Amino acid sequence: MPIAKESTQERDEREKRIILREYRALLRALKERLKKGDKTLVRNAFRIAAEAHKDTRRKSGEPYILHPIAVAQIVVEEIGLGVTSAICALLHDVVEDTEMTLDDISREFGEQCTKIIDGLTKISNVVDLKANSSVQAENFRKILLTLADDPRVILIKLADRLHNMRTMDSMARDKQLKISSETTYIYSPLAHRLGLYEIKSELEDLALKYTQPEVFQEIGRGLKDTKRERTKYINEFIKPLKAELESLGFTFEIFGRPKAIHSIWEKMRTKHVTFEEVYDLFAIRIILDTPKDREKAECWRAYSVVTNNYRPSTERLRDWISVPKGNGYEALHTTVMGPGGKWVEVQIRSKRMNEIAEKGLAAHWRYKEGSAGGKSATESKLDHFLKHLREVLNNPDTDALEFLDDFKLDLFVDEIYIYTPKGEMRVLPKNATALDFAFDVHSALGARCIGAKVNHKLVPLSHVLKTGDQVEVITSAKQKPSEDWLSFVTTGKAKSRIKYYLKEEKREIGEEGKAILQRKLSHMGLSITPVNINELCLLYKKPSMLDLFYGIAVGTIELKEIKDRFKVLGDRLIPIEAERKDTQPTDDTTRQDLKPAKGAELIIFGESSDKILYKLAPCCQPIPGDDVFGFVSSGEGLKIHRVDCPNAQQLMARYGQRIVKVKWAMNKEISFLSGIRLTGLDDVGVAQKITRVISEMLTMNMRSLALDSKDGIFTGEIKVFVHDRSELDILCQKLSELDGVTKVERIEPTEASQ
Ligand code: MN
Repeated sequence: MPIAKESTQERDEREKRIILREYRALLRALKERLKKGDKTLVRNAFRIAAEAHKDTRRKSGEPYILHPIAVAQIVVEEIGLGVTSAICALLHDVVEDTEMTLDDISREFGEQCTKIIDGLTKISNVVDLKANSSVQAENFRKILLTLADDPRVILIKLADRLHNMRTMDSMARDKQLKISSETTYIYSPLAHRLGLYEIKSELEDLALKYTQPEVFQEIGRGLKDTKRERTKYINEFIKPLKAELESLGFTFEIFGRPKAIHSIWEKMRTKHVTFEEVYDLFAIRIILDTPKDREKAECWRAYSVVTNNYRPSTERLRDWISVPKGNGYEALHTTVMGPGGKWVEVQIRSKRMNEIAEKGLAAHWRYKEGSAGGKSATESKLDHFLKHLREVLNNPDTDALEFLDDFKLDLFVDEIYIYTPKGEMRVLPKNATALDFAFDVHSALGARCIGAKVNHKLVPLSHVLKTGDQVEVITSAKQKPSEDWLSFVTTGKAKSRIKYYLKEEKREIGEEGKAILQRKLSHMGLSITPVNINELCLLYKKPSMLDLFYGIAVGTIELKEIKDRFKVLGDRLIPIEAERKDTQPTDDTTRQDLKPAKGAELIIFGESSDKILYKLAPCCQPIPGDDVFGFVSSGEGLKIHRVDCPNAQQLMARYGQRIVKVKWAMNKEISFLSGIRLTGLDDVGVAQKITRVISEMLTMNMRSLALDSKDGIFTGEIKVFVHDRSELDILCQKLSELDGVTKVERIEPTEASQ
C-alpha cells in the first residue's frame, strides 16, 4: 500500500522502479529469441509506450504502462510468441489512446508491426455498455477478421483480454459482468479453437469469478479443503507407474492436476451433481522427454505401462497422436480403473506435444521456424481453419449476428476426420453431413451437391458423416441450394453460404418484381421512393423491400389493391386508413414449393463404362422402372420419355425413325427426383410422420415438402429422390398407411408444368 504521506516525487520514483523491474522481466523472457538489433527495437517500443501513456492510470490507480508490459509478458511467456509480437503488445493501446499514429509506428517498426497494431486497434477495446447486440456482434466479427489477417493479432488480443480479466477487481460491477460475458462468449472459445488450453481455462475461471462470485469461492474453498485427500490418492496412483517407467529408462514427469473450477461447475450444473461427487476429478499427466522421431512409439510404450498396472476402459482410448485434433492437440488419453474402483484419466504426451497443448498455434510456429520447409499435417489443418474463416468473413452479405451464431458452432464442437477420394484429410465438426463436407471442400461444390458417395455407397445430402469416412461429392450443374438444406447442415460455412445463395436468388427474382412495381406506380404518376416502399411493405406485411419485390415477382402480392388502399398526393402514397383491413400474411415459401420443380433438378450420374448421354424428358419425368423409349431430338441429343407420356403418341407417329429402344440399367447409384401428392385429414404431427416414413427408407433424400391445410383437410406435395419405380411404389404404399392419409398419388409432371 502506498504510504499516505508519500510525496509525488517519491511516488514517481517508486513507480519508475516497478516499471523498470517489469520491463526487465520481459527482456529476460525474450532473451533467447533476441537477435541482433532486436533489443534496440524492444527498448524503443517500451520508451514510446511509456511516453505515450505517461499521464494515464488504470482504474486500479497504477501507471497505465504496466498493462502493455504485462500483455507483452503473457505474449512471450504464456503464448510463446517472439520479438515482433512483444513489440506490438507494448504498443497495442498507443494508437487508440494517444496522439501516436500508425505512420509513426510504420516509420519506427516497419510494415509488419504496423499491420498487427492496426488490427489490434480496429478491435475496439472499450466495452460499450450501451451498444446493442448487433454492434457487439460487429465488433466480434472484426476480431475474427483480424484473426484471419494475421493470427498474431488475436493472440495478442487474447493476452490483452487475459490481463484485463486478471486485473478487473477495481472495475464497476456492470463492466465486470459485461467483459466477463464477452469473454465466455467469444474469447474463451477462440482460445480453445487455437489450442490455448491453459488460457482458455483461466479465462473461464475468471469469468466465473466475476459472474458468479459465490459459486467460484465455494468451489475454490472446496478444492482447498479436499486437497490433502486428493494428493494422497494421486500419489498412491502414481507410485507404481513411476517405478515401472523409471525401470524402463524413461525420462519423464508425472503429476496429477485437479480440474479447473469452471469445469467442475459445468459438471455440477449439467449433470446435476453436488461438489462432493465431482471434486475428486483430476487427470494424471505423463510427459515424456523424447526425440521427435521416437515420440509416438514411446507414448505407446508408456501407455502399456499404465495399462499393465490399471485396467483401461475400452471405450475411453483417444489417440490424438496418429490423428491430431484440428487445433493441433496431440496426446494419448486413456481412462483406467484406479485404486478403490475409481476411474482416472491419464494423458500421455511428449514434451513437444505438451508445449503445443499449452501454447497451441504459437508453439507450432516455433517448431516450424526450427525445421525448414514442409508443412506438418497439423499446420495445414490450422491453415485450413484460417482459410475457411477468411472465406466466411469475406462473404459481403453476412449479417453480423447471424454470422456469429453460425461461426460459434464451429468453435466448441468435437471433430471428425473425413477423407477425400484422393485420401486428403479434412476436419469437420461432429454431426457434419455430406453437404457440410461439400461446402467445406469448396462453396461451389456445396451449392451444386446432389448427394455423395460415402465409402462408395450412395447417400443423400443430409447423411451424417463419421470419422474415417471417405466421401466423394456428386454434383449437378443444375442443382441450386434450397431452404431445407439449412435444416441439416451444421458448419458455419455451409450455413452462411446457403443463406447467401438463397438471398441472392431472391434478389434476382426480386428485380422482376421491382420492374413490375415501377410500371404500376408510374401509371399512377408515382415512383419508387423509400416512403412509398415503406407504405407498401406495411400494407403487404413484408419485413423488407427485398421481400416486397420478391412477393410481387412470384405473384403472392397483387398490386391491384393499391388503388383501393391509397390516395395519391404528389409523389406519395397516402393510406386510406379507415379501409385498411388486415391482410392475411402470405407465405411465399409454401407457394413457391408448390410450383413444379423444373427439369432442372433431375439428376443423371453414374459411372457405367458405356455411358450414353441422355436427358430425361421434362414432360413426363421418367424414373427407372417406368416403361420408356428414347427419342433422338434435333438439338439436345437423346431424350428419354415414358411410354405413357402425353407426347409419346405424337412423337412416335411423326418421327418414327428417331425412336430408339432403351432399357433401364438397374443402378442403385442413380437417383431421380419424383413428386408425390398426398391428401388427408389435418393432423398436427402430419409433417413429422411423413418425414419419418421417408427417412426410414434410408437411401431417400427429400427435396421439399409443402403442406397446405384448409377446413381440416391437408394436401401435400413431396419432392423426393428415388432410385427406381419400385422404391417410389413402396414409398407411396407406406405413406398411404399413415393415419389420416386418404390419398397418395404420383404427381404427373405434365399437369403441373403446363
Ligand atoms: Mn489493452
